[in-house]
Amino acid sequence: MKGSVDGFRDECGVFAIYGHSEASNLAYLGLYALQHRGQESAGIATSDGRDIHCFKSMGHVADIFTPSVISELPGDTAIGHTRYSTAGDTVLLNAQPFSVACNKGRIAVAHNGNITNALELRQDLEREGSIFQASSDTEVVLHLVARSRERTLSGALRDALLQLEGAFSLVFLAQNRIIVARDPYGFRPLAMGRLVQPDGRVAHVFASETCAFDLIDAEYVGDVEPGEMVCVGPEGMTRERYTPARKRSQCVFEHVYFSRPDSIVFGRSVQESRENLGRLLARESPVDADVVVPVPDSGVAAALGYADESGIPFRQALIRNHYVGRTFIEPSQAIRDFGVKLKLNPIRHLIEGKRVILVDDSIVRGTTSKKIVRMVRNAGAREVHMRVSCPPTISPCFYGVDTPSKGELIAANNSIEEIRAFVEADTLAYLSLPALHRAVRDDKGEYCYSCYTGDYPTKLVQIEEMVGVGTRR
Ligand code: AMP
Repeated sequence: MKGSVDGFRDECGVFAIYGHSEASNLAYLGLYALQHRGQESAGIATSDGRDIHCFKSMGHVADIFTPSVISELPGDTAIGHTRYSTAGDTVLLNAQPFSVACNKGRIAVAHNGNITNALELRQDLEREGSIFQASSDTEVVLHLVARSRERTLSGALRDALLQLEGAFSLVFLAQNRIIVARDPYGFRPLAMGRLVQPDGRVAHVFASETCAFDLIDAEYVGDVEPGEMVCVGPEGMTRERYTPARKRSQCVFEHVYFSRPDSIVFGRSVQESRENLGRLLARESPVDADVVVPVPDSGVAAALGYADESGIPFRQALIRNHYVGRTFIEPSQAIRDFGVKLKLNPIRHLIEGKRVILVDDSIVRGTTSKKIVRMVRNAGAREVHMRVSCPPTISPCFYGVDTPSKGELIAANNSIEEIRAFVEADTLAYLSLPALHRAVRDDKGEYCYSCYTGDYPTKLVQIEEMVGVGTRR
C-alpha cells in the first residue's frame, strides 16, 4: 500500500496516565482491558522524571508484564500500547512504544491508526539522514519531532502533527509530561478520564476505550477532540487545537465490531449501538424461524437486538473456547474445518430440527461464515438464515482496521446471492447503510463508512484506491 510504510495496518490500543505513584501498574491494567485491540505485542514506557524506561515484548499483556517487569518501570507517568499486526521477523522491532533520545530530551510514543503519508515522509527524512529501526509508520512521528526547529516539545509535536495525514490517536511521554493528540478527522477513539487518589490528588488518564477506565476506577470525562492536543505536566492540563477540526469521520466499525460492548466510544455505548443494529436488521430482513443464534462473541449484542425485535427466542447455541492461543498442535489426521471447531462448538439439542437465524457482525472473506453455517447444519439445523449486522464490506480500510485487499473481500466481487451460495446459507441479508447510520444515531454525518461505500474522507487514499494498491497487511 502506497501510504503506509510497511504495507499493513495495525489494530491497536493506547493508554496514558500522568501523576500516579503506581503508573506502570495502572498502565498494565489499562492495557489488560484493551487486550482485544491487539494481541500480538504490548509495551509500556514510564518516566521517573529523569529517565524513560520501556519494556515491550511479543504476546499477551498478562504474560509480558510480570511483577518483576513492572517493578523495573518506575515513575508516576506512563504510556502503553497493544498491537495486532502481521507475523514476521521484524515484529518485535515494530512493537510500541517507540522511545528515543533527541534534542528535545527523551521521548516515547504509541499510536493507534494509520498514517497514510508515512512512506513519503519517511523517504524525505531518510534523504536528510534519518535512520529508521522499524518499518512501522509511527517511528516517522518521532523523527519529525526530533528534526523540528521548534524549541519546546509541544511546539515540535505540533509541527510534526501538522505534517501527518490519515488516522492517528497518539500518546507521547516525555520526562515530566504526557501529550496526547487526535487527527483532525477523529478516525480512531481517544477517551479522557480522571482518577482521584486516596490523598485527593487527581491523576489524568487517556485510553482508546473507556473499559480501561472502569478497571482502574477512573471516571470518563469526555474525548480528546479531533484536531486537539492535550498536554499534562507539572503546570496542570492544557487543551489546544493544533489544527482546525475537519468534518468528523469516526470509524463506525468501532461500534460494529472492534470496540468492547462495555465501552463508551465517540460518546456513545457500543452495546446500545449493536443492539440497535440487530433490531433494525430484524425489521429490514425478517424471516420465519425458531431460534436466533449469535456467532460469539462478535454477533451476541446484535443477535439480542434481533431476537428482541422479532420475538424469536435467543439461544447461545454456539459455545466459544476462549483459551485458543496463537499456537496449537495441529492434528496429524486432517480434520475438516479444524480451525473453526477449535474455537466454536454447537449445542446440538438447541439446533436440531430448528430453523436457525445465525447473526454475525460481518462477513469479510466469507470463509469463517461458510464453516459456521456448515457446523450449524451438521448439528441438525433444518434451515440456516444468515443475518449480518452491517452492510457488505466492499473496500479496504486505510485508517487502522485490518481488512484485506479488495480482491479478497467477498462482497467487493460477488452479489449477495453469490455470497449466500458460497456460505451455503438458505437466505442471507445484510443491514442497509441508512440503518447503520440510524443505529449509531449519526444525524450529523460524523462517521466514516468507507469500508461499506468506498468513499474515503481523505484525498491520498482516494488515489490509492483508484490505482487499486490496497493490500492485506
Ligand atoms: P471471514 O471468514 O473473513 O468472513 O471472517 C468473518 C469474521 O471475522 C466475523 O466473525 C467477524 O467478526 C470477524 N472480523 C471482521 N473484521 C475483522 C477484523 N478487522 N479483524 C478480526 N476479525 C474480524
